Amino acid sequence: MEKQVFTGELAAEALPGRRPDGHKGDFGRVSITGGSVGFTGAPVLAAYGAARSGSGLVFLGVPEPVYGIVAGHCLEVMPSPLPAARGKISKDAFFPILERLNSCDAGLLGPGLGRSQELPKLISKILEETETPLILDADGLYAIKDRKEILQKRAERGLLTILTPHEGEFHYLGGEPAAGRETAALNFAQEYGCILVLKGPGTVTALPDGSCYVNPTGNNGMAKGGSGDVLGGMILGLLGQMAAAKRSAEADTDKARFSKAGISEAGGITALAVYLHGLAGDIACKELGAYGMLPSDLTARIPAAILEVQ
Ligand code: AMP
Ligand code: MG
Repeated sequence: MEKQVFTGELAAEALPGRRPDGHKGDFGRVSITGGSVGFTGAPVLAAYGAARSGSGLVFLGVPEPVYGIVAGHCLEVMPSPLPAARGKISKDAFFPILERLNSCDAGLLGPGLGRSQELPKLISKILEETETPLILDADGLYAIKDRKEILQKRAERGLLTILTPHEGEFHYLGGEPAAGRETAALNFAQEYGCILVLKGPGTVTALPDGSCYVNPTGNNGMAKGGSGDVLGGMILGLLGQMAAAKRSAEADTDKARFSKAGISEAGGITALAVYLHGLAGDIACKELGAYGMLPSDLTARIPAAILEVQ
């Protein structure tokens, strides 16, 4: 096992550059799919996590019944309504979601998605059909818990998938933290060919090549509903910037395939997002204290966190 603490120096190295003449297309188009009746904040927090991390364009697909509420919280990110059943995204949303993802540099599935009978099939079909790099979080993870072979199939095709479970989610995915958090995360990443972010104090980012990063930033003021949604958005925003740069550097047909070096770079980008998320939390904690700070205070402090590592 090759384990490394992710330091400020590594963060500075991993931060995607911004070309002076860049336009929004150069900094990644990213898509979030989530939200449901009762969970309207999660996709918005994720969207702002991405926007505050430097994304060029952030799209947000939510079930039609909550569209108005979500849109009322969106200024710089673009929400759209998706077909719904009983307050959640329905199977009829497949084509609009796929179309959006295929036009994006990276996608995040899960924040506030909820659980229904239809969702496991819908989410796995999306994983099979799109070549776009994907992040799965929250109920996006729940949706694939009995269909993990899809992750292996994506890996065999050179497609990138990042999973971001907390301990509870890792448990139902079949992870075994009894072996130790780092070993368990690495075993999973290697078996399923994905990048696995096992969240909590000292978040572990495990890569399929057997290496992992341990995160030194963050605090217990972040132990509040919504913090993980911000992280999912930050990984998405930074990954989108990496993928957009890759898209302009490579032939169109190769744009979705990740070589070993590409996966290793994506692992660094993921660990960077985790580091910045914790650093934004540490800045918020100094200003506001662990009791009163909120996940939306994290999004507001992403710029300060980036300035600190730059
Ligand atoms: P979630 O449970 O999905 O909302 O994610 C919570 C986020 O907050 C993850 O990124 C955790 O790593 C972070 N977090 C929660 N509690 C702590 C803690 N005590 N110390 C450091 N980070 C934490
Ligand atoms: Mg969560």
